[in-house]
Amino acid sequence: MSAGVDAYVRSTALMGTVVSMQVIGHCATDTERVARDAAVDRAFEWCREIEACCSRFDPTSEVSRLLHHVGEAVPASPMLFGALRFALALAQETGGAFDPTIGHLMEARGDNIAYRTRAIVNTAADASHETNWRDVHVDADAKTVTLLKPLMLDLGAVAKGLAVDLAMRELRDYTNFAIDAGGDLYLGGTNAMRAPWVVGIRHPREVDALIQTLHVSNVAVCTSGDYERRLSSNAPPDEHHIIDPRSRTTASASISATVIASSAMVADALATAAFVIGGRDGIALLEQHSVDGLIISKSLERFATRGLSRYVGAVAS
Ligand code: FAD
Ligand code: MG
Repeated sequence: MSAGVDAYVRSTALMGTVVSMQVIGHCATDTERVARDAAVDRAFEWCREIEACCSRFDPTSEVSRLLHHVGEAVPASPMLFGALRFALALAQETGGAFDPTIGHLMEARGDNIAYRTRAIVNTAADASHETNWRDVHVDADAKTVTLLKPLMLDLGAVAKGLAVDLAMRELRDYTNFAIDAGGDLYLGGTNAMRAPWVVGIRHPREVDALIQTLHVSNVAVCTSGDYERRLSSNAPPDEHHIIDPRSRTTASASISATVIASSAMVADALATAAFVIGGRDGIALLEQHSVDGLIISKSLERFATRGLSRYVGAVAS
C-alpha cells in the first residue's frame, strides 16, 4: 500500500452551510505555503462574492436589490447573469419543474432565516400574485435582468454549484484537491492516498448508511436529498426544501438525486431538477445533458444513467 501525502484543509461557514477546501501535497518551502494559502483564500473569496450576488437572505445582495427595480432592465454582475441565465434555460426545458423564481414561496414556507444574523427575512409583503420563470427576462447582449413582476429569485439550487466552479479555478493548478460546499463537491485529481476520490451517497432512509459509493476524479458531484434541510420543527415530517413549482408543494417524485458533471453549477441544478421530475424522466433529462446520475424513488427504486457504472464502487449493504 502506498503511503499517504499531506492534506491541507480549511473550513468556514458560508452560503448557509459549511464550505471545506482541501489541497493535497507537501509544500517544501514557505513561499509554496504562502502561495497555496493565498489560492485557498481566493477560492473562499468567490463564495463570499456569490453570497453578495445571489443570496435571497441578505437584503443588500444583488438579487434582493432587484426587487426595488421591478419592470426595469438592471445591469447584472457576470455571476448573477450566468447563474440566472442557466437556471431560466433549465426552467424552460423542464416546463417549470425547475424554477428559480420561488423565493417568496420558500420564504412563506419557513425557509427564511439569514444564517449570519439569525434574522427572519421578510420580503414577500407585497407578493400578492403567483409568479414563475416567465416573469423574468434576461438580455444576453445588454447583460441585464428585468423582473416583470415583484418576485424574489431563489438561486439556492445553482449558486452553491457556481461558487464551487469558481473556487475550483483557483485550486486547479494544485491538481489534487477537494471542495465541499454542503454536499456540492468538486474532486480534482486524487486523494491523500493517491487514489481516486471516494464519494459516499447517503442512504436517504438509513442514518449513517450509504446507498452507493462513487470513485471519481476531476468532476463535480452534487446530491439533492429530501433529508437535507427540513423546514421548521412544526412542519409535517415529509415537508422539505425542494418544491415542485408547478403544484407549489413539496416535491415527492424522489427522495435523492445525485449528478456527476464537469461543472458543479450544472450538477447542482440538474440534481434538483432530476429530484423534482424523478424516475425515468429525470434520468432522461440527465442523459440529454450528457451527465451521469442516480435517482432514488420513495420505494427505494434506483434509476441510473447508462454511464454511471464507470464510477460505481461497492454497493453499501
Ligand atoms: P439543492 O437540491 O441543491 O437545492 C435546493 C434548493 O433549491 C432549495 O433550498 C431552494 O432554495 C431551491 N429549490 C427548491 N426547489 C426548487 C425547484 N423546483 N427549482 C429550482 N430551485 C429549487 N440558507 C439559509 O437557511 N440561510 C441563509 O442565509 C442562506 N444563505 C445562502 C446564500 C447563498 C448564496 C446560497 C447559494 C445559499 C444560501 N442558503 C442559506 C442555503 C439555501 O437556501 C439552500 O438551502 C441551499 O442552497 C440548498 O442546497 P442543497 O444543495 O441542500 O439543495
Ligand atoms: Mg445542490
